[in-house]
Amino acid sequence: MVHGNGTICVQGGYAPGNGEPRQIPIIQSTTFRYATSEDMGKLFDLEAEGYFYTRLQNPTNDYVAAKICELEGGSAAMLTSSGQAANFYAIFNIATCGDHVVASSSIYGGTFNLFAVTMRKMGVEFTFVSPDCSDSELEAAFRPNTKAVFGETIANPSLTVLDIQRFADAAHAHGVPLVVDNTFPTPVNCRPFEWGADIVTHSTTKYMDGHGAGVGGCIVDSGKFDWTAQADRFPGLTTPDESYHGITYVDRFGLEGAYITKATAQLMRDFGSIQSPQNAFILNLGLESLHVRMARHCANGQAVAEHVAAHPNVAWVRYPGLETDPYHALARKYLPQGGCGVVSFGIAGGRAAAEDFMKCLSIAQIATHVADARTCCLHPASSTHRQLTDDELLAAGITPDMVRYSCGLEDAADLIADIDQALA
Ligand code: PLP
Repeated sequence: MVHGNGTICVQGGYAPGNGEPRQIPIIQSTTFRYATSEDMGKLFDLEAEGYFYTRLQNPTNDYVAAKICELEGGSAAMLTSSGQAANFYAIFNIATCGDHVVASSSIYGGTFNLFAVTMRKMGVEFTFVSPDCSDSELEAAFRPNTKAVFGETIANPSLTVLDIQRFADAAHAHGVPLVVDNTFPTPVNCRPFEWGADIVTHSTTKYMDGHGAGVGGCIVDSGKFDWTAQADRFPGLTTPDESYHGITYVDRFGLEGAYITKATAQLMRDFGSIQSPQNAFILNLGLESLHVRMARHCANGQAVAEHVAAHPNVAWVRYPGLETDPYHALARKYLPQGGCGVVSFGIAGGRAAAEDFMKCLSIAQIATHVADARTCCLHPASSTHRQLTDDELLAAGITPDMVRYSCGLEDAADLIADIDQALA
């Protein structure tokens, strides 16, 4: 039976049997016991399903990953230790030294740094395109060795909305998947697979956890991308893996399972960026109320955006839910129930005024965080994005006067009163 988001948020991913715990159990164990070496050997050959070492897989994590997978409408999913690890694995699973990726320039600063600096050092080249680029500019970004296209549904912090369908069509025309970081809307507000995306990533640290309690990430595969249609482009999935006893992932696990199994078997084995079972348990507590919280985050975001848009001390506002926002039409298409609670705005008077404004807020606290129950704010140009050059800042949609204001779950009237006294 197909369930709605609310039912999946509360009960998805875990179905206890008779006498088993109603809540997801925390399997706080590094290792798992087997009667014979033969039994264990079958796991190492990926011939039998089971757990042997928590660096690769843990049952608690898999229950929670299954819930997120169901929310996104995917075929397989895995938890990672952070959103950074999720985006790294999502790309590195299909693009290695000598390969190339097309990415939106309007993405989280940490992801931009991961791609433009760290993965470039590993030999993966990125071409960044504006999410608003013309079709011909997008077309020109592809190379014969392109392996993926990447973007954020709602970009952090510029709040541009990705035209998922257009980017998916372009990716597919070049035989590569579209990877979408769906952190800000969460699957409650947008399911990128329904618009043609192939792989979805999350920083679960944000709304999914929702309480600022646990850093984590997730990768979900739609199971629909046909790696075999361009088998030469994706040898890691379509030819034998000598580091795993010669198995070929698509042959053994099908299109539904190949991508996540490879990421688990190779990348988790070698890099070990797995989420702790404790954090997965905490994440699940957050997921149980995600559908209820997202509505409140969005209502608060809309109220704050409308209020500051009319304030004389605010130079500009970006919130896709505003009718005047340049991304409103895309938001109506992809985010009809609302996007997220994050509002970006510029304080009249520039950088110094923005920093003064933030000091005067009392409910919203300055924090390197976004998308949790407590309202927080940040000055991206001097914090999360300070490693970017001025040109890169502009390409990422960031100006010196920008405040990123993340509406929590408090009363909108109190948030607005706090903003008003700080603007005054
Ligand atoms: N993706 C997006 C859209 C983010 O906003 C962030 C962090 O802010 C990340 C990925 C990285 O996630 P994490 O901080 O969990 O590593």
